[in-house]
Amino acid sequence: MSLYKTILVAVDFSPAAEAVTARALELAARCDAGLELIHVVEYLPPLDIGYEPVTAPEWSVDEQVLIDNARQSLQTLAERHGVGSAPQHVELGPPRHVIVRVGEERGADLIVIGSHGRHGIGRLLGSTADGVLHHAPCDVLAVRIQS
Ligand code: AMP
Repeated sequence: MSLYKTILVAVDFSPAAEAVTARALELAARCDAGLELIHVVEYLPPLDIGYEPVTAPEWSVDEQVLIDNARQSLQTLAERHGVGSAPQHVELGPPRHVIVRVGEERGADLIVIGSHGRHGIGRLLGSTADGVLHHAPCDVLAVRIQS
């Protein structure tokens, strides 16, 4: 019986994403597991919290454009690693929650994530890795990213 059946790798397109994906692939090959990739678009629309409604056109970003761009980038990354046909998930929301939710929905038994990503190296674990580690119901591998 293989150690893991479904491995979900969280990709943020930082330089660390290459090492994280490579490690997940290596594990998937050794365990004969399926590999799935996820990227979460972290767009927060401006809130109308003042007296004036937020109408400045330069503030409005089309969420669909962000999602489409992320899909394209994820496909390119997957192809670069030779797994262009692996299932890919692009979702909108807070990364740590969405990664855990999709991991559950897909029945992942291992989530592979970088110890750090775009938010830099401030603590032992970046905030996304920390959140996933605390809330995922499955194993989590935090790939050590050096500065
Ligand atoms: P951070 O907490 O931002 O330093 O990121 C740590 C790791 O979390 C990254 O190396 C990725 O594996 C993952 N991660 C962070 N942000 C995202 C995101 N938006 N989508 C998918 N994975 C992410």
